[in-house]
This record gives sequence, structure tokens and C-alpha cells, in this order.
Amino acid sequence: MLASKYQNLRPSPMLKIFQAAAKLDDVINLGIGEPDFDTPKDIIDAGCKAAKEGFTHYPPVTGFSDLKEEIARYWAKKYDLSVEPDEIMVTTGGIQASYLALQAICEENTEVLIPEICFTPYFQQLEFVGAKVIPVPIEEKDQFRLTPQNLQRALTPNSRILILNSPSNPTGAVSTYEDLEGIAKIVRERDLIVISDEIYEAFVFEGRHIPFSSLPGMKERTITIAGFSKTYAMTGWRIGYAIAPAHVIRVMGVISVAQSMGVNTLAQKAAVFALQNKDDFVKEMVETYRRRTSVASEAFGAIPGLSCIKPKGGFYLFVNIKGTGMDSVTFCMKALENAKVAMIPGVAFGKRGDDFVRIACTVSEEKLLEAAQRLKSFLEKGQ
Ligand code: PMP
Repeated sequence: MLASKYQNLRPSPMLKIFQAAAKLDDVINLGIGEPDFDTPKDIIDAGCKAAKEGFTHYPPVTGFSDLKEEIARYWAKKYDLSVEPDEIMVTTGGIQASYLALQAICEENTEVLIPEICFTPYFQQLEFVGAKVIPVPIEEKDQFRLTPQNLQRALTPNSRILILNSPSNPTGAVSTYEDLEGIAKIVRERDLIVISDEIYEAFVFEGRHIPFSSLPGMKERTITIAGFSKTYAMTGWRIGYAIAPAHVIRVMGVISVAQSMGVNTLAQKAAVFALQNKDDFVKEMVETYRRRTSVASEAFGAIPGLSCIKPKGGFYLFVNIKGTGMDSVTFCMKALENAKVAMIPGVAFGKRGDDFVRIACTVSEEKLLEAAQRLKSFLEKGQ
């Protein structure tokens, strides 16, 4: 029954680990990028209140105007960016925002530059829209940042689109102003369009987040992806958004009619409340992740055979396992069986990730330290 393009889909290395982990007891799961914080109760109440007030009908396709105004206010207040409501599209998670954007701007075989090491679903989205992937190598020696030099080297004569992700999932790298200036220069020279995934913008531990669209001349070339899943612990509400030139948003809106016809009304109203009221919650949560990533990067980095750069943002560690002599899938399977610690093989984020594993700091500090201790004992025993 299946279309030929889907017949060779293989379970990702991520899925393999989750399936194996589900069969074991007492596993410390550092696999999934799901915050251990629940959505704050008053955000939930705002969603319930909206339902009782009658927000149970189809919403406007690109989102309620009060939400778009709040989103515009957020970027103005936090980053001094001027965004109009017609430059915003509310989507079913950030994930739909990037997919709609790619559908709106990709032709068959459009060449898209993408960091390799990168958030996995981008590779699938590019495949589904028929784009051609042009990897830009990400290197540990650059603290996993996408550098203008590596971008320059990866460019092809037909490169058209560039995907950026800072802070990065899975590496925790945060672009510097100098990086972004260098990248913007190339974008200008080569007339590129940028999809800038800034879903972790609130999670920066050193320095500050710099929206790519804030660089001179970049706003009109950039589609920014952001959302509520991480910032407000609202993964299950499935709400995110894109910021882009109004003519792009218009087309994304038209495409979305054939897919989802607007975003869950209650999630939108809850998101309005979150933007208006929850700055303190976000601050506290980010502080917790700062502490956890700092403590955990030291603990995992101190294990013989492993090393780890302290992440500058996000909530993941990207741990180098080269010293163990194992590839990332073997390491994760053995660590799961012997130490009962679930992690994601780095190869899930691109071939260049095979010397690494991703650890999500979405459990308590105590659990992270226990996981590090378990891994240490396992590795000391010899595999
Ligand atoms: N981009 C990145 C880099 C992510 O890590 C995620 C979630 N793991 C998303 C986008 C999508 O987030 P959501 O659809 O939940 O908003």
C-alpha cells in the first residue's frame, strides 16, 4: 500500500534505544528531549477557561491575533526586534513551522545547507519536500558552532537555503555575534534564504541569544522558528510559530489549510497567558538547566574514555565517547544493558555524530549524577 518513497524507512537509532529501554526496569532515561517540568497550573487554567468561554470553533488559519500580538511584543521586548502580526504564523509545534516553511520555499532538488550534526527531523523534512541536502560540517574543535569558514567550504554554486539552529539540539552550542556576522555576509553574497531554528532561545547560559534576523539585512531573508514546548514546558500542547516576511507567511497559511486548518484554540489561549505572565517561571527553569548541564558535563566528562564540552545553551550534553573505542549505537546499547542508562547515539544527528552520544538533562541533578556513576562503573569493569 505504501508509496515507494516511504518503503525504505528504517527505524531511527533513537527508536531502537527507546524500544530496548522500555523492556528494562530502573532505567535512567536521558534520551528524550522532554522537560521534566509540567506545564504551570495557571497556564493550564487559562486553556480550560478558554474552552468554557467558547473558544471551541475553528481559529484563524495563521493564529489568533491576540497571540500574534503577544509574540510580536515578546521579540520586541526581549530582542528589540520589530515584528508585525502578519509576519507571524502560529503552528502545531515548531516542527510544523519548519515543515511549512520548507514546503513554501523548496523546489524539487533545491540545495539546502544543513549543519551536520543537527536535529534529526530536519533531514526527514528535507527528504519529504524533495530537497537536496548539503551538509555543513560541525566540529568539536569549534565547540560545535557552525562557523562561516565551514559554511564557505560547503557552499555549492546552487545552494539556496541555509538551516541554522542556535542554541543547538543536540550539541548545546550557541552562535557568537562574530559567527553570525560572518554567516550573514555569506548569506548576502550568495543570496540565500535562512531558516533559523531558535526554539531554545530562552535557554542561553553564557552571553545572550542573538536572533539571526536581527543582523543587518537578514530580516527579509529569514524564517525564524520558535515555540512554547521548551520555554513554557508545553510539549504536549503542540504549539509553536514561525516569523517570516508577510508574503511567505501568507503562503504557509494557505498550505496549512490543506494540512491542519489552524492550531488548537485552547493551546493558543494558554500560550497568550504564558507570554503575559510566566517570565519568572522561565527564569527559574533556565537556571535549573544551567545548573544541571554544568554539574552533569563535569561528571560525565570526568569518566575515563569520555569527554564533554560544557554546553552554552539548550538542555543537552553532547559527550565524546571516542576513548571507549565504540561507535555510538554500540555504546548506547551496551550502556543501556549494563548500566541501565538510556542515551541517544550521536549518529542519529548525522554521520559526523558517531563519536558522540546525546544526554538530555531533563532529570534531576541527583539522577544525572547517579547515571554518571553507573556509566563510570560499567566502563571501569571493561565492556
Ligand atoms: N527544533 C528543535 C531543535 C527541537 O529540539 C525541537 C523539539 N525537540 C523542535 C524544533 C520542535 O519542537 P516543537 O514542535 O515541540 O515545538
